[in-house]
Amino acid sequence: MPFDRHFIDQLLNWFNIHSRDLPWRHTYEPYHVWISEIMLQQTQMDRVVFYFTRWLERFPDIATLAFAEEDEVLSCWEGLGYYSRARNLHRTAKLLAEQGNMLPACYESLVKLPGIGPYTAGAIMSIAFNQDFPVVDANIERLFARLFDIATPIKSRENKKLVWQKAAEMLPAGKSRIFNQALMELGALVCLPKKPLCSQCPVIHWCKAHRLDMIHERPVLLPKKKIVFIEMATGILVRGGKILIQKRQTNDVWANLWEFPGGRLKEGETPQQAVVREFLEETGLHVGMTEEITSVRHSYMHYRVILHGFFCDVVAEEEKEPALHAAQENRWVSFSELHRFAFPAGHRKLIDYLRNNSGI
Ligand code: SF4
Repeated sequence: MPFDRHFIDQLLNWFNIHSRDLPWRHTYEPYHVWISEIMLQQTQMDRVVFYFTRWLERFPDIATLAFAEEDEVLSCWEGLGYYSRARNLHRTAKLLAEQGNMLPACYESLVKLPGIGPYTAGAIMSIAFNQDFPVVDANIERLFARLFDIATPIKSRENKKLVWQKAAEMLPAGKSRIFNQALMELGALVCLPKKPLCSQCPVIHWCKAHRLDMIHERPVLLPKKKIVFIEMATGILVRGGKILIQKRQTNDVWANLWEFPGGRLKEGETPQQAVVREFLEETGLHVGMTEEITSVRHSYMHYRVILHGFFCDVVAEEEKEPALHAAQENRWVSFSELHRFAFPAGHRKLIDYLRNNSGI
């Protein structure tokens, strides 16, 4: 059986020697483990270490996070994407602040908190509290697909059930903190997606895919989602040295982030026409373009977005204040104040471009 005593010893010895020095591993403080697990859900480790360290400088504990302004929380998260994670961290911190500023050492209580699902609850229970709970992340899914030579597609429901069951069966009592991390670390550092480093693998003798020469057939992947290209345009309106920004509504993926007015191009529209239309729809202002700034590109999930940016001015009713047809709030701010607000990635790239390439 692949999960015999010797397998576990090999794996844990390897982890003791090769595990990365990550900040949340210094104390396994539950707040630190929770923040790291939420950040790691959609982000590479290198970036998470930077963001985690900065986050703890700003929000060193649950109480500080609970009493922070949401704009500040989102601003500290900016660049990590998937902002619902930051909003849920904030909501959960507020709930915990009413209960003594502690994360509960109880799986059933953890999964009731905003943003904490079965995976994160299992990770907190095992890594922070060293309780016997299995976890399965993408690294473990891939590792198991090879270790057990699993032929079902890795993202299928059937496979997920199977790997969680195996993770639970393998778990050595009282060692889940180290064991779960060792599996994840082995997947992240050795059993790599394209070229696994089998010659460095501590569990090579238990690996069925290696024995059967099936490593490159495992895991079985489902066909990739089609890439969707999106073209957007936005306008920077300057009045009296201040720039118009508006805060998005609370009901979409970029809820509560700030932006310059603009949006997606309609069929047959030029980017300039889209800015004029969007400004009118969103703010009631008639604008014209004065200068094209640049076009920036960014990606999220299977979307590829190109955002065209323009300077614009109001062509009529110069002093009219912008309406709030598509936003919950707007402000006129100086360029140097923009860093205090959280923007979606495309708008932040535009700001960075202006900082590096214009006299603003
Ligand atoms: S032997 Fe190779 S394929 Fe098998 S678990 Fe180790 S690294 Fe992965």
